[in-house]
Amino acid sequence: MLRLQCPVQNYAWGRKPDGGGGKRGSEVAALAAGAGVEVDPEKPYAELWMGTHPSGQATVIGTEGSTLSQWLSTHVFALGDVQQYFGNDLPFLFKVLSVETALSIQSHPDKALAEKLHSKRPDVYKDDNHKPEMAIALTDFEALCGFVEHGELVQALASVPELRSVVGEAAAAAIEASGSKAALKAAFTALMTADASTVATAIQAMTKRLLSERRPLTDKEKLVLRLNEQYPLDVGVLSAFFLNLVTLKPGQAIYLSANVPHAYVSGELVECMATSDNVIRAGLTPKLRDTSVLCDSLTYSQGPPEILEGSSPSTSCPWTVTYSPPFDEFEVIRVRIPGTTRPLGLQEALPASPGPQILLVREGQGRAFTRNPIHAGADPKVEWQEVVLQKGGVVFLPANTPIMVEALNIGVEVWVATINERVFKQGARTKIAVVERDAQLSWVFWLALGLLLVLLWAMATNNLPALQRELHKWASLGQPDAAHTKPT
Ligand SMILES: [Zn+2]
Repeated sequence: MLRLQCPVQNYAWGRKPDGGGGKRGSEVAALAAGAGVEVDPEKPYAELWMGTHPSGQATVIGTEGSTLSQWLSTHVFALGDVQQYFGNDLPFLFKVLSVETALSIQSHPDKALAEKLHSKRPDVYKDDNHKPEMAIALTDFEALCGFVEHGELVQALASVPELRSVVGEAAAAAIEASGSKAALKAAFTALMTADASTVATAIQAMTKRLLSERRPLTDKEKLVLRLNEQYPLDVGVLSAFFLNLVTLKPGQAIYLSANVPHAYVSGELVECMATSDNVIRAGLTPKLRDTSVLCDSLTYSQGPPEILEGSSPSTSCPWTVTYSPPFDEFEVIRVRIPGTTRPLGLQEALPASPGPQILLVREGQGRAFTRNPIHAGADPKVEWQEVVLQKGGVVFLPANTPIMVEALNIGVEVWVATINERVFKQGARTKIAVVERDAQLSWVFWLALGLLLVLLWAMATNNLPALQRELHKWASLGQPDAAHTKPT
């Protein structure tokens, strides 16, 4: 086990260490303070990064500043089986987020688009990887996520005249006539590319109208007023009507595949993603907007996102909950063990993973015991290691390292990012790719064999001229029929 020192990001949308006005303070700042970092009360603490991304590398404590990447390059055994599927790097980036004001309206590219964007504009798109992500609420957590169902959008265009005026009558009527992706894309693109003065006039009129309404406002209407306070007259305010407003309770999670629009609005969360920082932004941000790339790349799927509640892997792990999104790079495990007054704390075993893992102590105190992984050249004598767990502590577990987590008096809550188990169960990505190629080869092989047999049959039965006529007919399929193209 290695203890890690992990960097924080002080983005403007983050929470301050002391929330002020009775509001909750930043969890990221509390974790940093727990890890011994001096916290500046005036700065927002937005994100804690636990991984190897070049924009925020973890360093290994006790190695005079060696980053986790550098350490892994000389201790490749620690990646275990993962190396053959994902290369010589940690495939996931683990984070905690403290969201005070909304993040940008954004999406993340798929692998092919990420490679294209990175090669064209490496200053904006810093790596060539895709970035599927999952967010698990630590507190009540609000997010905009994916497009609303068709009926809800029709309703919004009918009840928010200012939205309709920016989208335009033709695009709005097309939505009313059809639930197609093309109509949605046209209307969303019309909104996001509308000129700033049209958008500003519409938002001013809308806020004035909403503030003078005598009825109770809907959750979405309250949200757009709040977004307008945070990002005055920004087109992202109106785009909220196109997106699902999701409110998660602590312990619930959403996951985001590539090319799905979203914006986290408020709350504290644990987040995990493929190792990437590629964000395509189009609203609610002072940063660069890449609106046409965003509008062109979205999938335009409609409907509310799936909410994961977490599942218990087995009755022998009563305090473990697993969040498993449909992505290969990661899943997240929470272990929350209650405190006890007995001298020996309650314990939970975490089985070894064939890949590396990162453990964060979110709350409480405890200990983790482990055995060193067996690797080439290792001392065959199995040693025990022990690490003290306290809030903000981050521990790297090399592949094949089983651990036991023990809670001390007040209990302990740890979160573990790990490779999605489905990679190892299904034989994983590289092996799947080989199977697909083999399947294609056999398809070509059988087709060629079939044609050869037909040819042999035709030769053997003197039917070659008939076969030639048949082939000629197939070849002319799709060509204009001479009989019907003659002028009359
Ligand atoms: Zn995102």
